[in-house]
Amino acid sequence: MTILGTPLTPHATRVLLLGSGELGKEVAIELMRLGVEVIAVDRYPDAPAHQVAHRAHVIDMLDPVALRALIEREQPHLIVPEIEALATDVLLDVEEAGLATVIPTARAARLTMDREGIRRLAAEELGLPTSPYRFVDSAADLDKAVAELGTPCVVKPVMSSSGKGQSVVREPHGARAAWEYAMEAGRATRTRVIVEAFVEFDYEITQLTVRHVGGTALLEPIGHVQEDGDYRESWQPQPMSPAALARAQEIAGQITAALGGYGVFGVELFVRGDEVLFNEVSPRPHDTGLVTLASQRLSEFALHARAILGLPLPEAITAHPSASCAVLGEGDGIPVFGAIDQALAVPETDVRFFGKPRVEGRRRIAVTVARGDTVEIARDRARAAANALTVSLA
Ligand code: AMP
Repeated sequence: MTILGTPLTPHATRVLLLGSGELGKEVAIELMRLGVEVIAVDRYPDAPAHQVAHRAHVIDMLDPVALRALIEREQPHLIVPEIEALATDVLLDVEEAGLATVIPTARAARLTMDREGIRRLAAEELGLPTSPYRFVDSAADLDKAVAELGTPCVVKPVMSSSGKGQSVVREPHGARAAWEYAMEAGRATRTRVIVEAFVEFDYEITQLTVRHVGGTALLEPIGHVQEDGDYRESWQPQPMSPAALARAQEIAGQITAALGGYGVFGVELFVRGDEVLFNEVSPRPHDTGLVTLASQRLSEFALHARAILGLPLPEAITAHPSASCAVLGEGDGIPVFGAIDQALAVPETDVRFFGKPRVEGRRRIAVTVARGDTVEIARDRARAAANALTVSLA
């Protein structure tokens, strides 16, 4: 039997959220609803989840000393990563010492910290189908890899998300520009990049998969559109051939079983006919899964909260045709939204403002989510609401 305490008492169930973006904010809200004490951490103050947590901390989560000190001070029962760039050695030590449970596991956090760990596990250990790839550490080796793989190919820093530093090389002579672009954006001073053959997929999906006390739940597939390596729109369910769906579920089952632990995983797959290729996996709720705020009675965030606490999930989790559309802020300043009444005039549509304190460059700052009788209607609605909103930077 699972026990949950009362927050801010000696009997609290404490969760330390490492990363406090918009996805962490929704997880924090769901944990709050279950009476969990939530401690939200990010590298800058007033991050979205900071605003809905019992306590907020600002540290460099790649700094092992700072991370260890915070864990010792807060003594969480669960450590829930929301981002990849963490001092994962500390998580391995903490798990090993039995100080806290790392979600889903410290090893999964380590393997998904960069693209290399997870790609080698998927392709080389599990034998899952992926696009052909090479890891390279210099511009000269990138030239060689591009020559071997052919163009077009995709270059991505091993440590980056939301498309930062990612570009498509269309001609062999484009490799140098791709290298420089990747080096500008690579996080954590890593110079390694992955170069992959470009996949001419028919569509791409996120197969949300929940590992929980009662087994593994495969949610209905989410289709999405990415621009510059960053998600713009998603919808659920994505229609798939029975063969492609079965293959997607099989791959998702295999990679999530290999990572282990409890929680939501976002398995990203490319689909071409009945063929399915593994791209990557997040051992946590996925940005394209924001659509589940509209489509499912229990969103991916609610399911994550339940699963990590060892609580049961419903027998069947069905999705009503729905869509989400990201709202971006571009420039420098504090986001201010207008024409919200017009956005909300779109039927069966909601808006979620993330509360990000500042935009510098291009950042996702809100999302619209809509239902419809069909996915197409839902997509039109989510897009119409996003287009109706005005964003200025103060
Ligand atoms: P990733 O950061 O790996 O999830 O890549 C972001 C997006 O870029 C994906 O969702 C795809 O739309 C696109 N992409 C990444 N890798 C490839 C590839 N090898 N071939 C074609 N498109 C890709």
